[in-house]
Amino acid sequence: MSSKADRTTISAISTPLGGGAIAIVRLSGSRALQIIEALSHKKDFSPRRATLCLIYDGDDLLDEAIVIYFKAPYSYTGEDVCEIQCHGGSVIAKRILELTLEYGAVLAKNGEFSKRAFLNGRLDLSQAQAIAKMIDAKSLRAQKILARQLKGELSLFVENARDGLYEALAYSEVMIDYGDEDLPKDMLQILFDKIDSLLLRLQRILSHSLARRGIFEGFRLSIVGKPNVGKSSLLNAMLCYDRAIVSDVAGTTRDTIEEVLELDGVQVRIIDTAGIRKTQDRIEQIGIEKSKEAIEQSEIVLALFDSSSEFEREDEEILDLLFEVKDKHILIVFNKSDLPQKLKKERFEGYACFALSAKSKELDCLFEALKGLISQEESQEILLSSAQQIQSLQSTIHSLEEAKIELENGVLELFSYNIKDALKALGEITHPYESAELLDKMFGEFCLGK
Ligand code: GDP
Repeated sequence: MSSKADRTTISAISTPLGGGAIAIVRLSGSRALQIIEALSHKKDFSPRRATLCLIYDGDDLLDEAIVIYFKAPYSYTGEDVCEIQCHGGSVIAKRILELTLEYGAVLAKNGEFSKRAFLNGRLDLSQAQAIAKMIDAKSLRAQKILARQLKGELSLFVENARDGLYEALAYSEVMIDYGDEDLPKDMLQILFDKIDSLLLRLQRILSHSLARRGIFEGFRLSIVGKPNVGKSSLLNAMLCYDRAIVSDVAGTTRDTIEEVLELDGVQVRIIDTAGIRKTQDRIEQIGIEKSKEAIEQSEIVLALFDSSSEFEREDEEILDLLFEVKDKHILIVFNKSDLPQKLKKERFEGYACFALSAKSKELDCLFEALKGLISQEESQEILLSSAQQIQSLQSTIHSLEEAKIELENGVLELFSYNIKDALKALGEITHPYESAELLDKMFGEFCLGK
């Protein structure tokens, strides 16, 4: 039996049904070759060669197809795999699939080929996730990053980082066992430097991944500012139609409204929020909480200030809020540029700022700035593509920070304990839970035939 994962041979149509010149039916498992031989009335399939053959439905000729046989373990799943490239349309591939089932294959579940590849060690989790995301990728930019992940860039990084941590653990265990005797004096310092430099790198990856996660899922943009600054007007101008309530009365935009734009092929989800303002009004307080939440959830923050009025305490509160923001793109917008200008701009030094008038609907500068943010050159730094990867990295960083404190306090047992936690969390990026239930859930999100 070629598969450690499962004893059945699975079969599925791996291409979309309907139009298209060709369709591919894929089989994986120990009976894959036997089933193809039965379908084609032919025996001499060489591995990794395209073999032109006829496909029969009983004694009737059904199609002429190309079959490629991948012998275990050198296949996508690590099992014997056969791919039948038949003619497209909705009839042929379906009938071939039915025939494979009649000859003993079972219908593959969503993602089952990839799950077998994972269980047979052909892919690690980061690579399996890259494949799932590549199929759904919304932009070429995302696709290129995922291709790097599929080639094992992230896996290699995790492996190296784990090696470094195992080494640190070994150092620490030696020091626990031998105390001060005969050990080089600078061992503690070496250990400290090792952890510190890994921690810095991981923090850089985390902050980069948080700021750029919109590449994969679309960016979320929050519009914040005190009441009456022009948030709803700006949103309306951006969307070119009246969805939000535009009003002179402070705090009328009670609910968060979401709309989606597409810029350079990347989705931007706009969240309009009620003014951020300390208030006794219960309904409005909900709006304020939502504003803070929206900032937290977004990668891009558009902070609006009314350039036709003096800088107020409420503006100060917004600036305070922005000051606390990390790993996000912030754009400062001076709205109402059509009115006489009163706002002093010194307070905004260090931010990317520009002036516009939401009322005039001339938003070229805003859209240029947004496109610039979205389309900025991707650095060669590792970019995590899923929430689960980001969460695992955050836990790793947390454990390493704890480990560093224990090391500074000279408590090596607790240092080792935290390093072990960090190792576990880091490992989850590529080899998570082995529980069958969780694996089923994860691979169930793949499309059929993958
Ligand atoms: P929000 O409370 O921040 O959502 O503010 P609104 O969008 O409801 O706007 C408050 C008021 O300012 C409305 O009367 C708008 O017409 C007005 N307003 C918004 N933007 C501009 C602008 O660029 N110029 C001028 N003159 N008025 C504006």
